[in-house]
Parts: sequence; structure tokens; C-alpha cells
Amino acid sequence: MVSLAEVVVGLSETKKLYLDDAYKKEAESHILRWIRETGRKGYVVVDETIMHPKSGAQPSDRGVLESTGITFTVSKVMEYGGVIVHYGEISGGDFKEGMDVKMRLDWERRYKIMRTHTAGHIVDYAVVTTYGKLFQSQSAMHDVGHGFQEYLGEYLGDLKERIEEVANEVVASSKPVFAEYVSVHELSKKVFGAPNLSRLPRLDVYRIVVIEGINAIPCGGTHVKSTSEVGRIKIDLIEQTSNGFKITYRVLDY
Ligand SMILES: [Zn+2]
Repeated sequence: MVSLAEVVVGLSETKKLYLDDAYKKEAESHILRWIRETGRKGYVVVDETIMHPKSGAQPSDRGVLESTGITFTVSKVMEYGGVIVHYGEISGGDFKEGMDVKMRLDWERRYKIMRTHTAGHIVDYAVVTTYGKLFQSQSAMHDVGHGFQEYLGEYLGDLKERIEEVANEVVASSKPVFAEYVSVHELSKKVFGAPNLSRLPRLDVYRIVVIEGINAIPCGGTHVKSTSEVGRIKIDLIEQTSNGFKITYRVLDY
């Protein structure tokens, strides 16, 4: 068993192309490391990637890396010390350091994750608006077409219909969604309606994701560029938890 620390040893941080362009489906890159683990399974690091790792509330991307007859099918993407590691199965040969590689995202899966993730930010807003107060988040998951947001604090009742209505008004209003980078000093001025401030790591620069007029939340994930792309948000369940409440939702194609 190879540890991620061993896979990334001596490598610099990966350039994360998905942070600047979540819609980039293909890219050229170079192999920095290929470690075969068992059989055809192993780990690949490239200098820049379009694949988002499993981190926080966002699941791992999938896709393929190809080079002169070699195909590497990515089943899992991870991050260790700023280095993105692609795990999967190789066929047609072995990668060598410095080799050019073409990467392709499983776009259908990613786009659904982008829609679900953006819906998560919209649900945050709908919760603030409906209950009239901001709750800190406990955990969340923005999966392929379905997700949940779990909040800390007093459960104020099942206002599912109202939350769904507010969320879908945001979808219908086609609000722009974009990322900004701010210093730790600017953070408190720029961020609003964010449920995750108590859980932030200490950084020099923060990436905040803004839904214009709705909220601005520190986030490193991938989002759609307009709320209209999310599709219809369906709130499936609001349930009380031991220290708060949990909202389970889906995004539908209208
Ligand atoms: Zn986000």
C-alpha cells in the first residue's frame, strides 16, 4: 500500500485549472509521477489538472488521461499538500516522467456536481431567508444530482415548501455566480450569508464564491456560472438532528 505522502514527495503544488474555469472539459498536461500500486492500478500526478479532488463537500471527479496508446481511467482524485493525485487503472503501457498527456473529464458527472453544489449555496440562502437567521453548517455533501446541508442550532420546524420556493426563485432570477480572491483582512467585508466561517482554515488568501445579491461564501469547489443552470431544486426532507437540522435536496432537469 502506497501512502499519498510517498506519491507526492518532492513535487510542487498542482495548478488547479478547475478553479479558474469549471467548464474546462479537456486539457494537455505532463506526467510528473506514475506509481503502479497493484496490477494495473496506480497513482498519477500531472503538472496541471482539470479534475477536482474529493474534498469537503464535493465528491471526486472522474475521467481519463491518454498518451500514445496508453489509457488511464481515473476513478478517484485526491489532494495531498496541494498536490492533486489521480488514482485509477492503466492499459496499453506505462507512463514515463515528462510524457505529454491529454486529459478528459467525465463532464456529465461533473456538470451535475456543479449544479448540486451551486444549489447547496442557494439552499443556504433560502434557510437564512426562511428562518430569518444564519446557522453555521455542520457538514454538507454535493453529490451527483443530490446533496444535503446540515446546520447547527435550534430546529425551527419543517418549512420545506417555503425553502423550496425561495430557492427556486433564486434559480429563476438567473443570478451570476463567480469566484473572487480576497485577503484575510477583506474577508469579513466581502463575505455574507456564509454558514462556514467558524470552520475555515487560516489562509493568506481566500477564494469566495459569490452569487450576486444572494451570498458570498468561502469555497474551493466548482459551480455553474448562472443560477438558472442549476435546474429545479427539490427539497426532499428536513429533519431534526441531535444538535441541529439537516436538509436533503435534489436538482431536477425541470
Ligand atoms: Zn461552493
